Amino acid sequence: MAIIIDGKATSAIIKEEVRVEAEQLKAEKGLTPGLAVIIVGENPASKVYVRNKHQSCIKAGMHSVVIEMPEDIAEETLLEEIAALNVDPTIHGILVQLPLPKHINEDKVLNAIVPEKDVDGFHPTNVGYMTIGTPTVLPCTPAGVIELLERYNIEISGKKCVVIGRSNIVGKPAALLLLAKNGTVTVCHSRTKDLAAVCREADILVVAIGKAKFVTADMVKPGAVVIDVGINRNEEGKLVGDVDFDAVEPIASAITPVPGGVGPMTIAMLMKNTLECAKATLK
Ligand code: NDP
Repeated sequence: MAIIIDGKATSAIIKEEVRVEAEQLKAEKGLTPGLAVIIVGENPASKVYVRNKHQSCIKAGMHSVVIEMPEDIAEETLLEEIAALNVDPTIHGILVQLPLPKHINEDKVLNAIVPEKDVDGFHPTNVGYMTIGTPTVLPCTPAGVIELLERYNIEISGKKCVVIGRSNIVGKPAALLLLAKNGTVTVCHSRTKDLAAVCREADILVVAIGKAKFVTADMVKPGAVVIDVGINRNEEGKLVGDVDFDAVEPIASAITPVPGGVGPMTIAMLMKNTLECAKATLK
């Protein structure tokens, strides 16, 4: 029986820590951390994510602004909005909800956010700092993975870590953060040969592919720690991860469920990043 790594409970603890610290910041320095979220279009999933971020901000005692823009907004108008938020002293974090409509250049938009307010940690400057190990804003989902491992006292140093997936938002940064914690890291992707054999070497297996129940029991070493980043919907519309939880749980030593694992950590880390960006303005 594996330990079930409870992301929901851990996320609640982190959000409470952020709320307490934000309250102190307000009382002692007169500074209220502020987050601006820009959403373009009517994507229902994006709307739910943005609403959750807004509510989490309010609960944490932070200033929250949601800017809704129509699907056909000109790229220039979006860039102007970001330029205004970049110099708005009440805003310490700016997040553009992805995906953006096809006529808008995602890289151009993300790069327009000043690195000091890039609470998603996607700006090349922050990616660069993360790569060379300078403290910086870390991307929320991979940072949430590390936070879960640490809060469950799972040693990373010296462990064989296998990450499946090499996206810029999850796989690559997860690999870099595990490396920074002295893991011995292998990154797998769609061209990896004999994926199952590589995965079976892992003491810590992080899965971020986007394919429901892709990782089966034969791909997991007995006693391994399995972190499932995937969020997929099955035929019944239920949320499922990239790992076949029922098959893998009996052989793992610890595992994250979906839902209730990595998912809730992302928003907690966003709150934490907003707080840290606000604190950094005092330095
Ligand atoms: P991407 O689609 O950007 O990347 C998927 C990666 O998986 C790619 O690197 C791809 O390889 C690799 N891959 C795909 N098929 C295979 C295969 N058969 N064997 C090995 N590798 C494969 O996805 P994301 O990184 O954005 O997201 C991954 C999952 O995490 C999704 O389910 C997403 O919903 C979820 N997610 C969850 C978050 C959370 O808050 N919990 C936040 C962000 C994402 P290649 O590069 O070769 O194409």
